[in-house]
Amino acid sequence: MAKLIFTYGAMDAGKTTSMLQVAHNYDSKGLTPRVFTYRGCDKAGECFCRLGVSRPSDMFDKEYSFLALDLSNVAVVLIDEAQFLTNRQVFELGEIASCRNIPVMCYGLRTSWQAHVFEGSSALFGLADELREIRTICSCGKKATMAHRTCDTTTNSDEDLGQDKYISVCRECWLKLNGYCR
Ligand SMILES: [Zn+2]
Repeated sequence: MAKLIFTYGAMDAGKTTSMLQVAHNYDSKGLTPRVFTYRGCDKAGECFCRLGVSRPSDMFDKEYSFLALDLSNVAVVLIDEAQFLTNRQVFELGEIASCRNIPVMCYGLRTSWQAHVFEGSSALFGLADELREIRTICSCGKKATMAHRTCDTTTNSDEDLGQDKYISVCRECWLKLNGYCR
């Protein structure tokens, strides 16, 4: 049985870089990866990381069905921005791993800037065979686990997108920046 794997970390920890490396590894062996990113993320059919690497990718939105995919000749399914998956979609990806025997590797954030666990991440924490953490650091030197929004916008949505609006911080710094720990 193939595995469903969730790799999580704060912003800028290198999740997309890591995923693109995995895609390259499959490519170099003559095996076909199928790469997805979230439609809302302004990535226009392309997955790119901050180190400047990119590759064309398919897009998913909340209505997308992974079970409708033609996966013949696909060796692995790779999902970037997996925090935006729905519960249903995570179950579908579990089915692809278990019933079609194709590994599925998801990459995403753990919590939103409001410290809410994303739906996709929550489902993946519950269902994945394997959880992997990619670490990055807060400016204080501790491990960064959360996102702090650095600018005020009118939306309180957890999906207020745009990586330049956020910094990755540890919980202690997040609490202090958000009025706790006084
Ligand atoms: Zn800190």
